[in-house]
Amino acid sequence: MNTYMEETNLGLVHTYNRFPVVLKRGSGVYLFDTEGKKYLDFAAGIAVCGLGYGNEELKETLKEQVDCLMHTSNLYYNTTCGKAAGALKRISKMDRIFFTNSGTEAVEGALKAARKYAWKKGTGRYEFIAMENSFHGRSIGAVSVTGNKAYRKPFEPMLPGVRFAVFNSLDSVKEQINDKTCAVILEPLQGEGGINQASQEFMEGVRRLCDEEGILMICDEIQCGMGRTGAMFAWQSYGVKPDIMVMAKAIGSGVPVGAFALTEKVAQDSLEPGDHGTTYGGNPFACAAVAKTVEIFEREKLVDHVQEIGIYLKEKLDELTAEHNGVIERRGIGLIQGIKVKKPAQEVINKALEEGLLIISARDNVIRLVPPLVIEKEHVDEMLEKLKCAL
Ligand SMILES: *Cc1c(COP(=O)(O)O)cnc(C)c1O
Repeated sequence: MNTYMEETNLGLVHTYNRFPVVLKRGSGVYLFDTEGKKYLDFAAGIAVCGLGYGNEELKETLKEQVDCLMHTSNLYYNTTCGKAAGALKRISKMDRIFFTNSGTEAVEGALKAARKYAWKKGTGRYEFIAMENSFHGRSIGAVSVTGNKAYRKPFEPMLPGVRFAVFNSLDSVKEQINDKTCAVILEPLQGEGGINQASQEFMEGVRRLCDEEGILMICDEIQCGMGRTGAMFAWQSYGVKPDIMVMAKAIGSGVPVGAFALTEKVAQDSLEPGDHGTTYGGNPFACAAVAKTVEIFEREKLVDHVQEIGIYLKEKLDELTAEHNGVIERRGIGLIQGIKVKKPAQEVINKALEEGLLIISARDNVIRLVPPLVIEKEHVDEMLEKLKCAL
């Protein structure tokens, strides 16, 4: 029997309704609880564990880094920070990297970088346009640009000057633009918001509008980036480039780390010494994880693998949607897909847990599938068996 450890007994603030499972160990794409029960993992710690669990090379690197040096602060250069920055620059095609400790913190930095850019140019611009159903994090700045009223309401007043547009509606973005707009922030594929993909027309249109109006475009790639859509970063498949992008989740394979990246154009006229900082950001341990993660991604051609398995997952989910009247539609691409279900998603998810399958929900009653990127076809088949039982 699983031990349900109540938050109060553990002394935790009750901010989560956790599943009644205590996870202990992971191996490949499986997790094991304290009772020894095995779970096929299609949640990956919320799209974090791209390499799955127990990657030998990553473990070895981290152990060596612990022995060598874990923290220095940003007052000095360290052994792995430059390596990690170089790796992220290479795969993101952006020019400058600032390391953070989480996605939220990367979003905060991106918002500050955008405001500083406008300030330095003397434009008087400070407003942000964000999307409905977006998710950018839980700090006051990040939640201010998050398009979910329930997340914002108890913490009002929010950051002034945030306007929301309808995702995938260029007209709606146009309506929100004024001479105070400093940046548009969006996820090329909304994860938490229900697995909603930006259309080609929308991404190109936002880029064009931003260029015309002198507004910066910020892409939040925290969940959809790092190979998950079958492109290294989702914006890359649209042929448009943001001025600022944020990443986190899978870039450290489980070590808490995030980053925001700037193009040279923005970097030249944005944050300067004294403007922004973080004690841990870019620490040698986190950066060793990032550098090694990127190295493995490139060598193992994981992005190609995601494309291949993603097509298989899509086909299988389309079949399920056609066959099963409890499934309304399939959404997403690569290894970030979802199915909108008729029953309450949470019911299906709880049943799946009993079946030994870890899945999570997204808005709009969607079951979100964000497995480790190293899954094979056989794991997709196994997931479907269990999912059908749960449905
Ligand atoms: C998870 C997530 C965040 C917040 O990242 P944290 O590491 O939890 O702070 C921001 N944006 C998106 C798109 C996310 O999926």
